Amino acid sequence: MLPKDNKPYIGRFAPSPTGSLHFGSLIAATASYLCAKSKEGKWLLRIEDVDQFRVKKDSIYQILQTLEQYGYQWDDAILYQSQRTQAYDAALNDLGSLVYPCSCTRKFLRKQMPEGTYGYVYPSFCREKMTNPDAAQFAIRLRTHDEPIGFTDYLQGDYQQAVALEVGDFILKRSDQLFSYQLAVVVDDEYQQITEVVRGSDLLDNTPRQCYLQHCLNYQQPQYLHFPTAVTPDGKKLSKQNHSPEVSDTEKRQTILDTLHFLGQAPPALDQFSCLNDVWVWAIQYWDRDKIPAQMTLPEHYPNCL
Ligand SMILES: [Zn+2]
Repeated sequence: MLPKDNKPYIGRFAPSPTGSLHFGSLIAATASYLCAKSKEGKWLLRIEDVDQFRVKKDSIYQILQTLEQYGYQWDDAILYQSQRTQAYDAALNDLGSLVYPCSCTRKFLRKQMPEGTYGYVYPSFCREKMTNPDAAQFAIRLRTHDEPIGFTDYLQGDYQQAVALEVGDFILKRSDQLFSYQLAVVVDDEYQQITEVVRGSDLLDNTPRQCYLQHCLNYQQPQYLHFPTAVTPDGKKLSKQNHSPEVSDTEKRQTILDTLHFLGQAPPALDQFSCLNDVWVWAIQYWDRDKIPAQMTLPEHYPNCL
């Protein structure tokens, strides 16, 4: 099925190179990959290295190596956010008077805000005037409004957030001159013409901010599918995991079959597949997004995934 305006499907996987891929990231890769490939669409790879202070040495190489080993085949050139500064600057420029400089330092905000509220909603101190025009560096914030911003998620249904009340005027460029994740992801989804964003539900509450930015920039809004984030039986999110380069083909087949099980698919047993490629052929043919469960819990016997 093609998206409603008959545009070819373009999906993406956008890992942050802050460590190697863990089993939870492979679930995200599998979900976005199969949503794209089952519709004969493209699956693009984007390295979200916009926050260069958090990038870990060698992790880009490790991520690409893992994806390749497990048989994911991305289309087109890889997009690196660290090389997109000009595009992000141009978008900031396009926002015109919707953005304003903010000189509030963390120390200042901590002092001004009631105990316990720092870090939640920015109280718009700088919206009308600069609190400290002599400050050496400014952050750039986007004006928000009180109207709730909503969208309909394929799995989670209708979701809305009053961004001004729940987040406040959010940062697009930090005072250290790094662009924020929110701006980078919106500019890149538009640039790569993404038709559907498939990612974990831990990012669900970021989506209204991104929809608002898309609206401010006159961008198309992609469709969204947030699958439940995998947790351990005691409710913990998966942590980073190092995939050794020496994984056998059988182990790789089993890992991809495991991601399929978590995504509610019912693949045949491991011994029914003679190689990794056969697993992917089956998965692309029988992928059914409607089978993705509302919750994903790792059973006890998955110690290798943690
Ligand atoms: Zn401020």
